[in-house]
Amino acid sequence: MNFVVRRLEARLVDYPVRQRGAIVSSLGRHESSRYLVVAAYGRDGGVGFGEATTAPIWSGESAETAQWMIDSLISPLVVGHSFDHPAEALAAVDRRLHGNSFAKSSVDVALWDLWARQQGKSVSQLIADRPPLDTIPTRVSIGCYPPEETVELAVEFWNAGVRTLKFKTGSPGVDDAARLAAVRQRLGDEPAFTIDANGAHATADEAVRAIEALEPFGLSLVEQPTRRDRLSVLAEVTRRIYTPVMADEAVFTPDELDEALDLDAFDVLSIYPGKNGGFTRSLAMAKKAQAAGKLCAIGSNLETDLGQAANICLAASLSAFPVEQYACDLMAALFYPASAVEPPLKFHAGRVAVPHGPGFGVAPRG
Ligand SMILES: [Mg+2]
Repeated sequence: MNFVVRRLEARLVDYPVRQRGAIVSSLGRHESSRYLVVAAYGRDGGVGFGEATTAPIWSGESAETAQWMIDSLISPLVVGHSFDHPAEALAAVDRRLHGNSFAKSSVDVALWDLWARQQGKSVSQLIADRPPLDTIPTRVSIGCYPPEETVELAVEFWNAGVRTLKFKTGSPGVDDAARLAAVRQRLGDEPAFTIDANGAHATADEAVRAIEALEPFGLSLVEQPTRRDRLSVLAEVTRRIYTPVMADEAVFTPDELDEALDLDAFDVLSIYPGKNGGFTRSLAMAKKAQAAGKLCAIGSNLETDLGQAANICLAASLSAFPVEQYACDLMAALFYPASAVEPPLKFHAGRVAVPHGPGFGVAPRG
């Protein structure tokens, strides 16, 4: 269905983040979320929403640079033009602007939301290749804290129903084996453990040593052990270790996915629209990874419920996401004291309820 964007609005918002247990990784501490709320106004009075969950260390963007890109470069390419599909608008932007994945994605998600609402449908109805799920299990991140605090956080999340614990690892001076051992001792064998070094290891040998020291504690997934720009090193680690490897920082774009598939560099792909530069791209990348025999899981840059809705839609709608095998980084309810949408997304027993309303099923609060 044809649509025209009358106006794009990108608004800066500072979301309070809980400070106890704030996510600390080898990249630093996530203690504030200055993001963008993007609204795409259609010609018929409809509106679609997106979110840019910017962090300079992650994609080289801040909320301010993303806002500038949207106002100055993206809006003139989108506003007032007629499109048959959101992918056409993203292609027009991609022809003129390299990188800036979170800025692009916030607009692309808002256009998908607008486009689906205009048809009176959920985005899931437009993309699903299986009956959409009602709930999705959450994987929660536990920062690089000493063993005692690591156990406290693990117990808190376990009591909230979360069954997959992702330990941030690889920070200098932190004894990751002691942390995982302490949590196993306290919670037993039932929780699934994954680790995420956020690219902390410079060489394959170093990464393999670090992983093999933690495998005795029972790992279901090893996420981005090596530097983001060294796919061949990631591929070597994937060949050498027993536990499945998930590519996160190493695969932002479709071209990076092609390269990673050529090198057989990973087993599982971390995917989400902000990182990939649009919902359109995530959709295509999930299908391509699946066709190559890989599995997908939702990653995160700590979206609020607003940004998370698009991530949920992917996981709930596509068979590329075996969510009971690999839980998804849908953590908003655990890290934001207040929801960014009204009504808040339901979080119960460690699982996020899938919104089934038009578009992505959410709208910003206030
Ligand atoms: Mg990660």
